[in-house]
Amino acid sequence: MNSNKMQKAIQLYNTLSREKEDFSPIDPKEVRIYTCGPTVYDYTHIGNYRAYVFADVLKRMLEYNGLKVNHVMNLTDVDDKTIRNSQKEGKTLKEFTEFYTEKFFEDIKSLNIVPPTKFTKATDNIEAMVELIKKLLKNNLAYKSADGSIYFDIKKFKNYGRLSDLDLEAQKENASGRIKSDEYDKDNVQDFALWKAWDQKDGDVFWDPSTSFGASTKLGKGRPGWHIECSAMSMKFLGEQLDIHTGGVDLIFPHHENEIAQSEGATGKQFVKYWLHNEWVLVDSKKMAKSLNNFYTLRDLINKGINPLAYRFWLLMAHYRTRINFVLGALEGAETALKRLYGLYIGLGGDIGKIDKEYQKKFKERIGDDLDTPRALSLLWDLIKDPDVSATDKKATILDFDKVLGLDFENIKEEEIPEEVKKLVEEREEARRNQDFKKSDVLRDEINTLGYGVKDTPDGQKISKN
Ligand code: AMP
Ligand code: ZN
Repeated sequence: MNSNKMQKAIQLYNTLSREKEDFSPIDPKEVRIYTCGPTVYDYTHIGNYRAYVFADVLKRMLEYNGLKVNHVMNLTDVDDKTIRNSQKEGKTLKEFTEFYTEKFFEDIKSLNIVPPTKFTKATDNIEAMVELIKKLLKNNLAYKSADGSIYFDIKKFKNYGRLSDLDLEAQKENASGRIKSDEYDKDNVQDFALWKAWDQKDGDVFWDPSTSFGASTKLGKGRPGWHIECSAMSMKFLGEQLDIHTGGVDLIFPHHENEIAQSEGATGKQFVKYWLHNEWVLVDSKKMAKSLNNFYTLRDLINKGINPLAYRFWLLMAHYRTRINFVLGALEGAETALKRLYGLYIGLGGDIGKIDKEYQKKFKERIGDDLDTPRALSLLWDLIKDPDVSATDKKATILDFDKVLGLDFENIKEEEIPEEVKKLVEEREEARRNQDFKKSDVLRDEINTLGYGVKDTPDGQKISKN
């Protein structure tokens, strides 16, 4: 395979340059991707899952193009929210976060998301965070405050604001000059905490680096800030330079901006080559968010009888960089369309032929064009309707596309038709043989009332669920 030619086929929109760029990995043997994972303090809502479905399609697309991918995703299991909520429930931080981590794993499975090469928990990597903070202190980019917390000094990092296109001078300083919380917003662009000194609100959640990880450190009893978690874990498992870093657009500032400052401040090297961000899932034109209480969980959808893959399909119907408005009706529409696709796929019969090269080429072009899933899906419909491609080859080609789309065509089973319906279909067969079309129509109506449709084709009657 000609790898140069292959890689030219892929274009990705880089938030850093605000342009679509040709993709080429730093190391041709392996693409290194880091995805900011969930904060495991509650059920992950379906807006969040856009970020993970997007990262999944990205990874599948790269693999489809013959590239090996090393994908790391973190689990934020220590921050302000996890501590606060575990205390509210009277559980240890570990007990509490492990519960939501399990739920997250169940959800990604039902969305047919391929697990990353590695999941990594923040609490398993405190030492790497401490080491990184020590480097930043040594490089004079961080300082210790009166309460013992360590802050990053953003004025000393000249590229601060490049990713989010911030003009620091234009930002007003707030009174304290520092923000200790993980949850601050764009109006307060200030130094951020790398290490938070323990206070009573943290209860028994703390680490003491001087006793745990060797002496001679300025870091007293405390815990890491959210931003340092991702810099430390991504570099620990993927090295100092990554190919791709993903997350939702709300992470561009401050989280990813801060990751760049921390990582590049420590290594002096470019941290990430391509920054990719998905747009929001909205509800009534507002971001779906826990804080706005306008969210659905995947469980809510399942309880309504909706297949989680219909949500995946609905996401793929839009480009990842466009905002999409979530309404239950639209999702139900997507589910109907997906069922139709599955039905048509089953109708192609049991044999699998050869991948149609023309369609495969077009699919590669579309999906490689910054993951244009809407156009890739329309190609799938074109293929299904194409009279010049045999049923067996269609089947092989759909399974090939599905390596990227992940709609799980491979495991679709024909729905079991109830005995009652089967009997009526047999009777109708006989009525038609006897040219008793009146009876045949009556039987059709009876089949309909049982929730099934019947169609007469040259190969006989075809039954489908209404
Ligand atoms: P969090 O657990 O809040 O850090 O969010 C996990 C991921 O979901 C991040 O990449 C967020 O940017 C992303 N995200 C959060 N809300 C939405 C939304 N409404 N639509 C799309 N992505 C979102
Ligand atoms: Zn992160």
